[in-house]
Amino acid sequence: MRYRIALIRGDGIGPEQSAATLKVLSAVRDCLGVDFEIVEAEAGDTCLQQRGVALPEKTIELLKNSHACLKGPVGESAADVIVRLRIMFDLYANVRPAKSLPNVPALRPDIDLVIVRENTEDLYKGYEYEFDGAAIALRVITKRGCERIARYAFELARRRRRKLVAVHKANVMKVTCGLFARTCRETSRNYPDVEYSEMYVDAAAMNLIRKPQEFDVIVTTNMFGDILSDEAAQVVGGLGLAPAANIGEDFAIFEPVHGCAPDIAGKNIANPTSMVLSSAMMFEWLGTKYGDSRCLEASNVIQRAVEKVLSGGVLTPDLGGKATTEKFGEALAAAVRALAGKT
Ligand code: ATP
Repeated sequence: MRYRIALIRGDGIGPEQSAATLKVLSAVRDCLGVDFEIVEAEAGDTCLQQRGVALPEKTIELLKNSHACLKGPVGESAADVIVRLRIMFDLYANVRPAKSLPNVPALRPDIDLVIVRENTEDLYKGYEYEFDGAAIALRVITKRGCERIARYAFELARRRRRKLVAVHKANVMKVTCGLFARTCRETSRNYPDVEYSEMYVDAAAMNLIRKPQEFDVIVTTNMFGDILSDEAAQVVGGLGLAPAANIGEDFAIFEPVHGCAPDIAGKNIANPTSMVLSSAMMFEWLGTKYGDSRCLEASNVIQRAVEKVLSGGVLTPDLGGKATTEKFGEALAAAVRALAGKT
């Protein structure tokens, strides 16, 4: 099967990360036989400056005609790009793994957790008003939204260590978090093989630092997930390593957790791992969706290549090393070729 992958290079460090990731993807195509074409799609601040729109119709059409999208970070216009795309394509599950990697200053060497963040509801709906001297935001949580994110998280937990914690603040937000907690609890009855518990978000923030190794899958609402996943990324060594997936029924977009880091853009020092690991998540999703063992293998090899390169002491400056973005990408591509048996 030939996959059509839409690539949005993004702003800031996005183009540099994309170039490094493309080196890895070429190695995957050459050595693992995954057949794909990359279709370039424009979106973000640069696109806004050049075309007057951050998310052109042409890009939306390109995405609709692709199997998946790989996206670099976008700058100020992120809300007009990724937030719109999440809603447009109904990408309801934002999946953010945080795993200790070799040679990386993580809090502990044995952290392996995934945050499953509801991606379409909550305060991020953008329903905000000013009225009579007050600023008001509406928090929308639906039964359907809770059901599908809970189901997604339980299914994921089943494929991992079978432990799931639902994070909320139902003691204070009795109606909105109440619905979320109740729905997770109800869903847990269909998954007796998964150990289910609940935690208030403030306790979860503390426990992510106190005992991160005890988490397997965390399911939570949109804003809590946004905040906790940045924290989890830092706990395992920083944003430069943090990949994410926005997953819907038929389409998915894979992108780094972080923003476009304008402070280090154009200096060839950004860590491309977040985008490279996002591509590994993409191949895993494609492999599962289309029953394609080559894609699953590609996902596995990319992850092992990241571990191999880090173990070898090739580190970008955010991790205390001297490797450029370009050199790190080349080292990763070489590791993919070596692991695939073709040096
Ligand atoms: P946003 O609000 O759009 O998520 P932000 O203000 O949180 O953006 P980021 O762009 O996510 O900021 O970056 C935060 C800091 O993390 C940057 O200043 C940069 O130093 C660092 N950083 C982020 N991504 C990387 C990366 N891939 N490699 C190295 N450093 C990074």
